[in-house]
Amino acid sequence: MTLFNPLARSLRAAAHDDAQVRDEVAVENLRRLRLGALLALPVFGGASLWMLQGALGGAAMGPWQRAVGMTHLSAMGLALLLGALAHVALHRAPTGRAGRALPVLAAVLMLLLGIALTAFYQWVTPKFTPLVLTAVGVALVFYLRPPVSTALFAVAAVAGFVTLPLTQPDPALLASGRVSVLVIPLMSLVFSVLSWRKNAVNILLSRSLAQANATLAAKQVELERLASHDGLTGLCNRGEFMRRADHELLRALRHKYSTAFILLDLDHFKRVNDHYGHPTGDAMLRHVSALLASGVRASDVVARLGGEEFVVLLPHTDLESALRCAEKLRLRVQAHPLATDAGPLSCTVSLGVVEVPPRSRADVAAAYAAIDRALYRAKSAGRNRVKAGTLDEDCGPTEPARLVA
Ligand code: GH3
Ligand code: MG
Ligand code: MG
Repeated sequence: MTLFNPLARSLRAAAHDDAQVRDEVAVENLRRLRLGALLALPVFGGASLWMLQGALGGAAMGPWQRAVGMTHLSAMGLALLLGALAHVALHRAPTGRAGRALPVLAAVLMLLLGIALTAFYQWVTPKFTPLVLTAVGVALVFYLRPPVSTALFAVAAVAGFVTLPLTQPDPALLASGRVSVLVIPLMSLVFSVLSWRKNAVNILLSRSLAQANATLAAKQVELERLASHDGLTGLCNRGEFMRRADHELLRALRHKYSTAFILLDLDHFKRVNDHYGHPTGDAMLRHVSALLASGVRASDVVARLGGEEFVVLLPHTDLESALRCAEKLRLRVQAHPLATDAGPLSCTVSLGVVEVPPRSRADVAAAYAAIDRALYRAKSAGRNRVKAGTLDEDCGPTEPARLVA
């Protein structure tokens, strides 16, 4: 009993795997049938021509020659028909009942072909080449479920055993031939089961590999996003903002237009955390982020620098327009309180604005220093207001060599 337990477990696992890969196997079997039939056509055609050429020339033929020739000719017709049916099934319903039955039918016909040719061979030679080729061919070409392959090869063995005496009169050759017609299907059955199992395992392995790759790719995208975006608000983070602002200032210098920056800080935000808790503080940060992102142009860049401090990059914008934009943002935040369980929670922001004029060599650090000073003045002047700043040009770097060149 204990000896059979592991076997029963492996059989159950194999049956479970088989159920999961049945559709792929059905499609693959039809593809193999179509290709196999195509490749078999010249073989059958050539063999029948070779055997029947005597008859075409009017020469006398032995019964074995005629039988072998006609069998190959019939096999060619059947291969043509089965190949065409497999092609149709692949396009219509490869996993349907007919699509699954077609390869089994092809396997039956292949085995019958092997038995018939072997029987005809016995008239002139005690060889079993046709049965070996067709039985091993069935085992290797089609992925047949073990109950199906067992039935097929058992029927083939019995049919061979029964038909052999019809053409083999020699008792010794008949006895050894009967051993062969039992052993060949049995060996083929072993190949068939091994190949079926290996195929199922391969399909499942490549499927889980594909899933792992997809998960990895999704994680990679997420990692790239996290590297450049703020986890709480989804806005660009400081590093990404610096990269974009650097790039924009280089372009502005090259094409001689203004760039503006707005630095924005929530007023008395500490009180929000203290009175309503950090989760509400976080919700407020997300709320203000959304208001800022939807309150500027798509070509502008909004980023969270850290804490409750945000920055907006306005390409192609002078001081006057930037001040208008900052005032619009200030009013937007003021006019849209955060909805909380305790009712609407309003918030105001202070803003510092600076323009980096055309031809200015100021870099992001200089622009940031200027908006920071302006923001400080807005806070000092009572908060909830906008202040313009000026660049301290002495701090700016020299024009980058690659732009001068
Ligand atoms: P001011 O008007 O002068 O800017 O006052 P303030 O209270 O807004 O500024 P302060 O620098 O005193 O406090 C900023 C607060 O922001 C303190 C800190 O706990 C909070 N804070 C920073 N980052 C986060 C965050 O990610 N989530 C939450 N909930 N709070 C944050
Ligand atoms: Mg603040
Ligand atoms: Mg602050």
